Amino acid sequence: MRMVMFAALAASVVCVGACSSGKRASDSGASGRLGAVDQSFRRPAGDDATNIFDPLDLPPANELRLGSGAPGPDYWQQQCDYIIDCALDAETKRLDAQMRVTYHNNSPHALDYMWIQLEQNLFRQDSTGTLSRGRGVMRELAKGFDGGYDIGSLRHAGSELEYSVYDTLARVELPAPIEPGETFVFELDYAFDMPPHLRRMGSEEVDQGTIFEYAQWFPHVCNYDDVNGWNALPYLGSGEFYTNFGDYQVNITVPRDHIVAATGTLTNPSDVLTGEQRDRLASALDSGETLVILEPERVGEPATRPDGDGPLTWRFEADSVRTFAWASSEAFIWDACGADVTDLDGTTRRVLCQSLYPKEAESWYWNDDGRGSSQVIKHSIEFYSDWLYPYPYPIMSNINGPEGGMEYPMIVFCGSRTSDRGMMGVTDHEVGHNWYPMLVNSDERRYMWQDEGFNSFINFYSKAAWYETDPDIDNAIRRTLQVMNSDRRQRIDVPPDRHWSRWIGTLNYRKTALALYLLREEVLGPDRFDAAFKTYTERWAFKHPQPGDFFRAMEDAAGADLAWFWRSWLLSDRVLDQGVRVVSADEDGVVVDLTNTGGMVMPVHLRVTFDDDTTKDVRLPVEVWATTDLWRTRIATDGKKPVQVQIDPEGVYPDVNIDDNTAPVK
Ligand SMILES: [Zn+2]
Repeated sequence: MRMVMFAALAASVVCVGACSSGKRASDSGASGRLGAVDQSFRRPAGDDATNIFDPLDLPPANELRLGSGAPGPDYWQQQCDYIIDCALDAETKRLDAQMRVTYHNNSPHALDYMWIQLEQNLFRQDSTGTLSRGRGVMRELAKGFDGGYDIGSLRHAGSELEYSVYDTLARVELPAPIEPGETFVFELDYAFDMPPHLRRMGSEEVDQGTIFEYAQWFPHVCNYDDVNGWNALPYLGSGEFYTNFGDYQVNITVPRDHIVAATGTLTNPSDVLTGEQRDRLASALDSGETLVILEPERVGEPATRPDGDGPLTWRFEADSVRTFAWASSEAFIWDACGADVTDLDGTTRRVLCQSLYPKEAESWYWNDDGRGSSQVIKHSIEFYSDWLYPYPYPIMSNINGPEGGMEYPMIVFCGSRTSDRGMMGVTDHEVGHNWYPMLVNSDERRYMWQDEGFNSFINFYSKAAWYETDPDIDNAIRRTLQVMNSDRRQRIDVPPDRHWSRWIGTLNYRKTALALYLLREEVLGPDRFDAAFKTYTERWAFKHPQPGDFFRAMEDAAGADLAWFWRSWLLSDRVLDQGVRVVSADEDGVVVDLTNTGGMVMPVHLRVTFDDDTTKDVRLPVEVWATTDLWRTRIATDGKKPVQVQIDPEGVYPDVNIDDNTAPVK
């Protein structure tokens, strides 16, 4: 049902054909000079002096990162495994933790020192992010909260390690270099006070208790890679993170009346769940319908918790994840269902889709028409698994609490409470992030577009399938036009902490998503695009692609030179302005001049309307703009009388001036 729906949807979109190989519409034997009319036609200043069709200036390919956009035979990446014991004091909202970290140096280099990321330090009153980023962080800190890590001890083999803290980073002096192939184990004790709702985490009082959401909550080793060495970039607030994959064992001690959800599999259910809850979870995994695990009317009942006194420790394990997050509350209602995932080898398995939310989250409840949060999780897991890559983990949890929307491996935080569309949109988006960047682990701190934009793009189709409609790109076009029409527009490919706050969402989410949508629908066509996008995803699953790897993988797998496209959309702040003028019309056809004055180039979609209300569509490849910004072409009219010529008749381009998109034929 789902795949049928998706196939039908793909076939119903506006432009299925591969437009850049489309037939040039210039007829032979036409009068006048056709084609590139005026080579000296004004070419707007672009991002640089190069022709937009020139090859990109990418880092040279090597045996780590191949020219095909695949990881090469010498590719390596670091691994970092964590064992964390932590205890939450729900009264003081303080978390105490001890962790043991095993760092695997898979690089061919000896490491003389180590950088550790201390993201909680963003929430200090004097952090660089607080002082430089203004409202986004300051708004909550203005109320007086002063957070950050208290580090008690940092040890290796029983000896204290020297370290220096610089804002959200710490440089650790190693007793001896970590040689290639060696592992280095260290232990670290730390604590911090839970902020009020700050970026990506926090606590919230609801009617039946307090909801705690813990994210970016443990010091972690920065990513050392072949491109930048140590990726020791400060956490300023917008750039999320770029982390090592690793295996986690996390033991979380909370008050007995709390329910906990986390990245990973719960390994001691008999200690922390009732027999009834364990049975219900087993049934839910096998069920397509949402089943209740903890009913609204039983929230707070002692019988919903195992017998005994004192706190309980919930134990979780997760393999090959890029970080770990968790949530805990005594106010959670809990329901779940199972999703079907088919692995690359053809075997099928079930994924538990569970939702934990307070009674205030009205749109999350399961209901008879098959909606509610857990059904959205199931939809998203199955849709993206079928389309892109099988969801690799056994569980996905959706938590309703203070955070409006944030993604972590196997767990997402979504704040929307009363709007069905809001709950669906945020849940689908955050679950989608489990492909980009939880699976395809790109550098979020430098290239936000490579996860937010890709995810927003796949969300177009997932949402359309859920609502049984066409992808809705109108908002993306509108927002892209806002930035294109601004004198203060910015490029996408700079770190998000250098984007104006007004443009962060527009550039990284909407403009990038619109770019990929148009690449799929207007340039390559769905089949050719999907094969390439899946190739990129499969090649870089559980690895760290750079932007150049993405460009190369797409071009290699699609068999296309797309330098002009990446420059148009991602690597410059060029704008799109196509126009059409009628030069002449006679019994043979209509001759039009096409203009391209914004610097960005795209294929041209022309529609001629005749006096009998029929139309004829003609597509010109982007290559018409290779040497000119003014292209003349003749469209055969087949004996009919043309009355109007229009470009971009479906309105899918963010054209900054649509006044010249339609021309009457006199
Ligand atoms: Zn996102």
